[in-house]
Amino acid sequence: MTAKLIDGKAIAASLRAELAARIAKLTEAGARKPGLAVVLVGEDPASQVYVGSKVKQTTEIGMLSIEHRLPAETTEATLLALVAKLNADPTIDGILVQLPLPAHIDADKVIEAITPGKDVDGFHPVNVGRLSTGGRAFVPCTPRGSMKLIKSVRENLSGLHAVVVGRSNIVGKPMLQLLLAENCTVTVAHSRTKDLAETCRQADILVAAVGRPRLLNETHVKPGAIVIDVGINRIADPATGKNKLVGDVDFDRVAPVAGAITPVPGGVGPMTIACLLENTLESYEAQTKKSGRFDAVTEWICASGNIQP
Ligand code: NDP
Repeated sequence: MTAKLIDGKAIAASLRAELAARIAKLTEAGARKPGLAVVLVGEDPASQVYVGSKVKQTTEIGMLSIEHRLPAETTEATLLALVAKLNADPTIDGILVQLPLPAHIDADKVIEAITPGKDVDGFHPVNVGRLSTGGRAFVPCTPRGSMKLIKSVRENLSGLHAVVVGRSNIVGKPMLQLLLAENCTVTVAHSRTKDLAETCRQADILVAAVGRPRLLNETHVKPGAIVIDVGINRIADPATGKNKLVGDVDFDRVAPVAGAITPVPGGVGPMTIACLLENTLESYEAQTKKSGRFDAVTEWICASGNIQP
């Protein structure tokens, strides 16, 4: 292997340690703990695992973790009422509603009900809009974590060509915005892209967020490129007969060509939760200072009558 391994697990651990130190300083001075509320509706096994990890890591760094586990048959009205209650709760700085929601609940409606100042997932249209206009906003956690991994290899990205494969609202599109803000030239590829390998080979930075096991191999990678694999795919492992996790990048084939690469697991995954905690602490700082970056926009939204504070 020639590529540098980007150790997301270690980088996430050091970010969590830094956040824990910041929180300890605040609470030792008598301030309340930052609070993160996580809402899970239904029994989706993968979501249960994610929520379990989020709760554990939130508590470990000294934050208040409030967990709401609701049955799959919970009505949209009940969920919206809970979101309104959390919006108004002064001990809560971040609200995360775990997706996907059961089919009878309109996920967009729920996301739009979260007050933008507590939308630590960065999915509310106000935060999405502010990110795209260059304003200050909560940045979705996976792209934020992916940027930190890229920056761990190279600080100045100006003028580099980045190719993002995938155009979802939670990964591909915010990734595009973040890379653009770093003065990259950005191409976004997707399922209708004509020659994916040719497009990807132009990339100095290649971000794969597709959800197709090992779709990208050495034919997609320019020698020396930074390769960030967001994909998390469960496949059967013939050696053990059990399921194992693989990315969207064929690690063994790409590592000899790339300049730096994230593994799966242990790459982007751990960064996502660490960045959720970072967003929550930033929200706390904004709420407590009352001069923070989200207050004005939150007040505006609440005043417009669309959202109950
Ligand atoms: P989506 O399914 O929402 O989006 C997938 C994107 O990939 C779409 O834009 C789709 O194109 C594109 N695509 C699908 N097939 C191809 C193909 N053959 N060639 C080129 N593009 C293709 O997925 P997400 O963005 O939500 O997630 C992507 C991956 O990242 C998944 O494996 C997911 O599990 C993982 N993930 C990991 C996280 C982490 O914490 N590490 C967090 C979030 C996601 P089109 O738009 O044309 O359909």
